[in-house]
Amino acid sequence: ISPDDSLVHALRRVVAETPERTFLTYFDGRLSYREVEELSDSVAGYLAARGLEHGDRVAVLLQNSPHFVIALLGAWKAGAIVVPVNPMYKSGEVTHVLRDGEVAALICSDRAWESYLRETAAESPVRIVLTACELDFQTRGDARVLTFERLPQASDAEDLVAVARQGRQAPDVPAPAPADIALISYTSGTSGAPKGATNTHGNILYNAERQRTGLGLPDPPVYFAMAPLFHITGMVCQLGASLVSGGSLVLVYRFEGGVVLDAFAEHRPHYTVGPSTAFMALAAHPDVTPDHFASFRNISSGGAPVPPALVEKFRVGFGPYIRNGYGLTECTAPCASVPPQLEAPVDPASGTLAVGVPGPDTVVRIVDDQGEEVPFGEQGEIVVRGPQVVPGYWRRPEATAETFPDGELRTGDIGFMDPEGWLYVVDRKKDMINASGFKVWPREVEDVLYTHPAVREAAVVGVPDGYRGETVKAYISLRPGAETDPDEFAVYCKERLAAYKYPRQVEILPELPKTASGKILRRELRSRSHDSE
Ligand code: ATP
Repeated sequence: ISPDDSLVHALRRVVAETPERTFLTYFDGRLSYREVEELSDSVAGYLAARGLEHGDRVAVLLQNSPHFVIALLGAWKAGAIVVPVNPMYKSGEVTHVLRDGEVAALICSDRAWESYLRETAAESPVRIVLTACELDFQTRGDARVLTFERLPQASDAEDLVAVARQGRQAPDVPAPAPADIALISYTSGTSGAPKGATNTHGNILYNAERQRTGLGLPDPPVYFAMAPLFHITGMVCQLGASLVSGGSLVLVYRFEGGVVLDAFAEHRPHYTVGPSTAFMALAAHPDVTPDHFASFRNISSGGAPVPPALVEKFRVGFGPYIRNGYGLTECTAPCASVPPQLEAPVDPASGTLAVGVPGPDTVVRIVDDQGEEVPFGEQGEIVVRGPQVVPGYWRRPEATAETFPDGELRTGDIGFMDPEGWLYVVDRKKDMINASGFKVWPREVEDVLYTHPAVREAAVVGVPDGYRGETVKAYISLRPGAETDPDEFAVYCKERLAAYKYPRQVEILPELPKTASGKILRRELRSRSHDSE
């Protein structure tokens, strides 16, 4: 149980106990807890002085930099709701978020402001703009990731760092309460245009707490931010967890294999959470050695399927065991995970790795189309009730009623539970392939492909087929140096899967398309196959 009411309270508590402890490291730069407290106070004071009111929305469009953290905490201290925006979003996507969230203030990189956000914001309710050069807190400009030059300060926007250094007091507004909305996190969910999941301060604290207990982390722990902070997993399991535990957080702007490995060697982190694609990229990196992982006490992967072959490859090649975890934006990141002292079983029938067991106070059920609970081992939709489930979508009563009947989250994922309580995710309902009436779940085929030594990444989708309606197609990227004939993968799967499941078509791509949070974009691959019809 958390002693705090929000992450703002957690920050205050650590500042009172150990003000000079390092909170953020960013290449050669460091900020203590006290500095982050003062800088975010000043941002809050500025926002309030500009007329921002309790409950107003502040969009933050930044990478993993100290600026993100200061903007977030500053906005919360001003009583605002933060709308994290994916920096990879294109203008039309940002416009949707700024309008739907009725956003009053925007904090973004000066580069994005200059290149497209000035125009985007002009057609939105935004009236306060702060821009940041995300290199400013460093003692040296690091050219390893950021090769762009510092742009001259945009004349029509205030500089975030200058504002943070004005030394203003935080405004006298009520501190966030657990039931207050902390974030509006836009997610496509199961259908339609992105909707804003309203994560409360209580939702965030609950899941942040769960990332510090029982993981065998030293005190204070060092967390590495592998997932982006604008995504709920990064926000809660990395930033939130470091705040509630008074630990430090290593930031590297964005994921880039070599930069991440250098940061591991330099900062010796104890814990990180990332999508499986990030671990695949690290495992395939030419410079990786087991020593890079020597400081880790725990590693978790979530947000996307974790192939059992990856877990094995990691354990044998580098040491750490990758702990699966299952969650959605709508349940503020994890709702089930692998307990620290256990290892996830693999279902013998399907070869699927369990995602974990539901957290304490969390009830996960598997239901059929009528909403009736199904017996152990039987597949159905995963539904979740617990302290991390959001109260609903921002200003979408119908979508809220549909996705959260009686406050229970309908995930749109198909899964099953075994008698010991392990949860297995089969696939997303909408990703099922229907090949002449035979149901094929892409995950199962992908898991087989990942056991092939030449495969770096694999994604399976259904493509239109005149005879079967849909047929199975695999997109594969190869490990460095691997040379194979695409037909070999079809044969490999045919030997290991029922005849209707093996990929009739295989295409090799240099790289598979991914979301900013590292998930392989099956949607894009599907439309690619449609385009090539
Ligand atoms: P976006 O928010 O970018 O539109 P999204 O719909 O993938 O994308 P998230 O809330 O990030 O949004 O993703 C949740 C989904 O990720 C789950 O519904 C599930 O399908 C998948 N997922 C999460 N964790 C796991 C896991 N451990 N194994 C398999 N699938 C997972």
